[in-house]
Amino acid sequence: MDFDLTEDLQDIRRLARDFAETEVKPTVDADDKAHRFRPDLVKKMGELGFFGCAVPEEYGGNGMGFAALAILAEETARVWSSLRLAFAANLLGPAMTILRYGSEELKKKYVPPLVNADVFGCFALTEPNAGSDVAAMKTKAILDGDHYVLNGSKMWISYCTVADVGLVYAYTDPSRPVKGMSAFIVDMKSEGITNEAITEKLGNWGGPVGSITFENCRVPKENLLGKEGEGFVIAMKQLDDTRLASMAGALGVAQACLDASIEYCNQREQFGQLIGKYQMIQDQIAQMVVDINAARLMVYKVAFLKDKGRSCTLETSMAKLFAAETANKCADYAMKIYSAYGYSEEYPVARFFRDAKYYQIVEGTSNIQKTIVANDALGYRKANK
Ligand SMILES: Cc1cc2nc3c(=O)[nH]c(=O)nc-3n(C[C@H](O)[C@H](O)[C@H](O)COP(=O)(O)OP(=O)(O)OC[C@H]3O[C@@H](n4cnc5c(N)ncnc54)[C@H](O)[C@@H]3O)c2cc1C
Repeated sequence: MDFDLTEDLQDIRRLARDFAETEVKPTVDADDKAHRFRPDLVKKMGELGFFGCAVPEEYGGNGMGFAALAILAEETARVWSSLRLAFAANLLGPAMTILRYGSEELKKKYVPPLVNADVFGCFALTEPNAGSDVAAMKTKAILDGDHYVLNGSKMWISYCTVADVGLVYAYTDPSRPVKGMSAFIVDMKSEGITNEAITEKLGNWGGPVGSITFENCRVPKENLLGKEGEGFVIAMKQLDDTRLASMAGALGVAQACLDASIEYCNQREQFGQLIGKYQMIQDQIAQMVVDINAARLMVYKVAFLKDKGRSCTLETSMAKLFAAETANKCADYAMKIYSAYGYSEEYPVARFFRDAKYYQIVEGTSNIQKTIVANDALGYRKANK
């Protein structure tokens, strides 16, 4: 593994940092406190090519690859975690899954507008009673002539209230757990779809999330991805992709916590000297630096393996787990370093603390990542196929 980023990847980091610092940072506190979704910023990211990584040029992408994507997501989350959601909602959820499993017509119709952010996307696995246990979902898609008829409800779906295109999982054969699940591309403005926003939540205040109800929603037969019954396999593959954006986001939040902590350590004095001079504070800073460096190596390794087309479910689970836990450890330490000022809304540390929690939950909780790693290590179920 090459430990140096190429010139191109270094340029991508500069581009992303410049965008985040100049376009996002000036209003981030006000936007976040107002729980404001900023479609204009997501569209700008689309124009800059942020969602074109790993997408071939013929479908509107730039083919820059997964390493570029990880860096872009990291730098975006470093300034505003909420904005990072778009990498999963537009690119790694629907667009990438259509590229992997969709017909040529679906690719041409849906991928370019998702990549340019002319439309917004979402992916819908979770239901009120099916979180970690994805296969327990109850939503059905029953074939009726040349349409599937969707009935059921999804819960905690990022971007569903603003989405035009949804990657939706449902049972085409409810009598066959796991093997009867299928995946669809759904026009989210179709008749029979209603949304409700979840407005009272701990963090990621600028990232819309909500529930979806499907009531006799008719989806054209040709919007099936892959074959009937392949939905569970498609979902696991999709999670391998979307977890890259979430681990990179966690890394960005962790880095933001460290940056803010260093700034404060060099400005706050107690007992006549900078708090950064105290050994116990230095212990916290050192742990943050080391864990962030380790998380970055793990996250970039996943991206590089994906760029080589290698199976990396195990590395993905390890990196997602470690990056999520690192974000929370760093948010906890930053809060301790800022102390009462961290507890206030005067500094961004309270926002980092709230936003970090998200990464331990989404796309497989930290427990679920541990089960994947442990089952692999114990030889019960190999993660990489
Ligand atoms: C802000 C936000 C955005 C989200 N966005 C999306 C989205 O866009 N699309 C989507 O489909 N979903 C989304 N989700 C849902 C998310 O993926 C689920 O919340 C997650 O998979 C966990 O499910 P759950 O919350 O129902 O927890 P549960 O599955 O009920 O788990 C509860 C607890 O039990 C533990 N647990 C469960 N099973 C096991 C096990 N086998 N071994 C050990 N421990 C276990 C869990 O780790 C957890 O601690 C989002 C959630 C949030 C909070």
